Amino acid sequence: MARPTPVPDWVPDLPAAPGVYTFVDPHGHPLYVGKSVNLRRRVRGYFYGGGPDSERLSEMLRIARGVRAHPTGSDLEARLEEALRILRDRPPYNKALKRRDAGWYLEFRWNEPFPRLRVVRRPRRSGARYVGPFWGRRLPERVKRLTEKIFRLRSCAEPVRPDVERTPCMQFDMGLCTAPCARLTGIDAYRLQAEAAARLLTDREFGWTLLDQFARARDTAAAGLEFEKAAEQQARMDWLEELEEYRFAIDSDADSRSWLIVLPGIEESRRVLQPVAAGRVLPSRRVDWVDGRWQEAVEDACYAVRVAELRAPSVLSPRESVSSVMVGRWLEDGCADGLAIDLTTQDAATTIRQLEAAG
Ligand code: SF4
Repeated sequence: MARPTPVPDWVPDLPAAPGVYTFVDPHGHPLYVGKSVNLRRRVRGYFYGGGPDSERLSEMLRIARGVRAHPTGSDLEARLEEALRILRDRPPYNKALKRRDAGWYLEFRWNEPFPRLRVVRRPRRSGARYVGPFWGRRLPERVKRLTEKIFRLRSCAEPVRPDVERTPCMQFDMGLCTAPCARLTGIDAYRLQAEAAARLLTDREFGWTLLDQFARARDTAAAGLEFEKAAEQQARMDWLEELEEYRFAIDSDADSRSWLIVLPGIEESRRVLQPVAAGRVLPSRRVDWVDGRWQEAVEDACYAVRVAELRAPSVLSPRESVSSVMVGRWLEDGCADGLAIDLTTQDAATTIRQLEAAG
């Protein structure tokens, strides 16, 4: 006699293929989205061994009354599809990614005479430079404050109208601002401070150069018995070292190159073309892999990448950065189930020749 299975009868027989699965409630509303390289094994696995360890997933399974499967031809397609469905459907039992359709950015409005750093919700001003996205507000606020202190940038909110009659605020007294408001620093000198700050936020190597520079200034001041100056340089080094601890969040882990990724399709005769323009994941296309058709589709995809590179703003939106990070991780993992062609410097004709050679 066959052993009774713990798998409820509302779980359909799923394919043993990569893809995305969605547990749904009795009304068909998505409860939880996941991905697997083997849909059948993954979904059935929820019911063996006494069920999931997590109370959250056990509760989800008590409510669920159906599973929908969305097979894909590859792991990368499954990763992208999973992220898209979580961000779109916001299933209540998915914790990861759900809040990633909103983020925070550090903004430098470069078209202001005396730019200051702001923490903003959206990167949408022309003439501004952005760092981000960050997934919460606290960290960019801390990075902002440290950057202001290291470079003695203004932190006041009102526009600066330089006036020699004006008395600078406490920030100047504490050595934390060069006081452009009182004309103690002119526009060119202040913009050099701001340039250096913007560079530090985008260039990790520059942080090490600055540390050397501050250490030399501290030692020179100490040798000349200027202990207050030496202490100021030491404080800048301490702030810089703290800022470097946040580098993991400042440096986007999204890949910013352009790619044409070719993935296996569900049917053997088809493949999926996944174009990526400067880190931005563009819509994919399933292509019949027959002579004439695929070459034309590759040309179209390369063209779409070039157009997107020209049009796109320099930073990714939080949503875009989620899929970009997925692609970046897949590239780092060695592109197991596909081929990634770097389009950053390569044209469509060379790409087609490369694909012909790869078969
Ligand atoms: S010293 Fe002047 S420019 Fe600097 S923060 Fe204070 S008010 Fe703003």
